Amino acid sequence: MTKIALITGANKGIGLEIARGLARDGITVLLGARDDGRGEAAAKQLRDEGLDTRFLRVDVTDAGVVAQAAHTIEAEYGRLDILVNNAGISRPDGVRAVMDPATWRPSGASVDARRDVFAVNVFGIVTVTNAMLPLLRRADAARIVNVTSEVGSFAVALDESSPYWGMISLAYPVSKTAANMVTAQYAKELWNTPIKVNAVCPGYTATDLNEHTGFKAPAEGARIAVRMAQIGADGPTGGFFNESGPLPW
Ligand code: NAP
Repeated sequence: MTKIALITGANKGIGLEIARGLARDGITVLLGARDDGRGEAAAKQLRDEGLDTRFLRVDVTDAGVVAQAAHTIEAEYGRLDILVNNAGISRPDGVRAVMDPATWRPSGASVDARRDVFAVNVFGIVTVTNAMLPLLRRADAARIVNVTSEVGSFAVALDESSPYWGMISLAYPVSKTAANMVTAQYAKELWNTPIKVNAVCPGYTATDLNEHTGFKAPAEGARIAVRMAQIGADGPTGGFFNESGPLPW
C-alpha cells in the first residue's frame, strides 16, 4: 500500500526537498504550505517531475486550518503514515539579522518577537501533531520527524570549540531546544505504540532562513529527514540525529 506523508513548510528550502525525496521513494506526498500560491506552485513543480504530490494548506499557527487539513486527509486517505514537522522560522517576518546582538541576545528583550518564533517552531509542531495523531494511529507504523537543529543542543551551545559558540540568541536556538523536548515527550507518550518520533538536524543549509549562508544544498539537508521518515520497526524513537548519527541533546 502506498504510504501517505505530510510535510509542513514544504513549498521551499529543506521542506521542498524532503517532499521531493519522499515522493521519489514512491510515497504520496501532501505538500503542506501556508500560502496557496506558493504551495500550489511547489506541488506542480514536483508533479511536473512525475511525482505523486498535492498541495494541502497548512499554516501551523492556525489550528482551524490544520484541523481542516486533517479532515481532508481523513476523507481522502483515511490515515497518515508519515508526518514531517519541518516548518520553521528564525525570526519574525521582516526582521533581519538573526544574530544582531541588540535584537536577539537575552539582554535585548523583545518578548513578542520571540513569541512569534515559538509559535511556529514549537507550538506549530504540537498543533499539527495533535491534529494528525488520530490519522497516524490508523497507519500500521507511522513515523513523526521533527526538523529541529543542533543549535538547540545544550552540548553544542555550551561548547566553546563549536562553530555555533558565537550564536547568542534567545529566539531560534531556544525554540529548537523546546522542539527537541517536545519530540522526547511525544516519543514517551507513544513509546508502546508502533509510532516512532525523532528529531533531526539538516545541518547548516543554504535557504531563505539564513539568507543562503549555509554550506549544504537543500537536497543534502533534507536527507536525514527523508531517512528517518522511513525507518523500520527496529529503528529508534525519542532520538536526535543528523546525517552522521545521533546528536547530543
Ligand atoms: P526556509 O527555506 O525559510 O523554509 C521554511 C518553510 O517554513 C517555508 O516553507 C515557510 O513558508 C514555512 N513556514 C514558515 N512559517 C510557517 C507557518 N506558520 N506555517 C506553515 N509553514 C510555515 O527554511 P529552511 O532552512 O528550509 O527550514 C526548514 C526547517 O529546517 C526549519 O524548521 C529550520 O529551522 C530547520 N533548519 C534549517 C537549517 C538551515 O541551515 N537552513 C538548519 C537546521 C534546521 P513560507 O514560504 O510561506 O514562508
